[in-house]
Amino acid sequence: MSEGVATAGTARPGSRTTVTGGTGGAVRVAAGHRVHVVNTLGQQVADTWAVGPHGGSTLSMSHTRLAMGRVTPRVGDVLVDDLRQPMLAMVADTSGGGHDTLIAACDPQRYRALGAEAGHANCSDNYRAALAAAGLAPRSTPDPLNLFMAVPIAPDGSLTLESSSAPAGSEVVFEALQDLVLIVSACPQDMVPISGTTSPPRQIDLYTD
Ligand SMILES: [Zn+2]
Repeated sequence: MSEGVATAGTARPGSRTTVTGGTGGAVRVAAGHRVHVVNTLGQQVADTWAVGPHGGSTLSMSHTRLAMGRVTPRVGDVLVDDLRQPMLAMVADTSGGGHDTLIAACDPQRYRALGAEAGHANCSDNYRAALAAAGLAPRSTPDPLNLFMAVPIAPDGSLTLESSSAPAGSEVVFEALQDLVLIVSACPQDMVPISGTTSPPRQIDLYTD
C-alpha cells in the first residue's frame, strides 16, 4: 500500500473510547469505516478481537495467517474471519510493526501458573465482559491479534516474549470490511514484561467516527 494511504490513515476521527490499562472495551465499526488503536503511553500490548455484529463470525488468526501468507500483519494486509471472509484491512501502522498472532490471551490459568493471587485481571475475562457489554454473548475466547506485542521467532522455531517497542502515541489503523464489533483488552500482564517495565498496564485509546 502506498505511503499516501498510510499517511491519510493517521488523521484520527473524533470519537475516542479510552480502554483503561488492564481492562477491556468494545466499539462498533460499520463497513467502510476506520478504527485507530492508539498506544497512547507506549509499549502497551493490546489484545484485539473482532466479531460480526450479531456474533456469528470471529476474526481468526489461523485463517488470517494463511490469507496474509505470513505471521505478522503489515499495512496492506487483509485479516479474515473464521468463514474466510475479509474483516479488517490494516491501512496504517506507526508502531514499528511488532504484532503477534501466535500467543493465547492471558487468563486465570496463566496467572495461576505465574504464582499470582487469585482474581488477577486477564484478557480472556476482559474479552467476555466487553462483548457482553456490547450486547453479544461470548463464546470461547478466540486467539487474539496481539497488537504491539513482540514475539520474535528464532530460526529453530522457538518463541520469546520481549517487551513491546511501540512508541507513545503510535497506532494501528484498520478499515472494517464488514460491520463488526472490535474488542480490545489493554493487557493486564504485569508479571512478564511484555508491556515494558514502566508501570504496566496502561491505557489504549480507540478512535472511531
Ligand atoms: Zn493479556
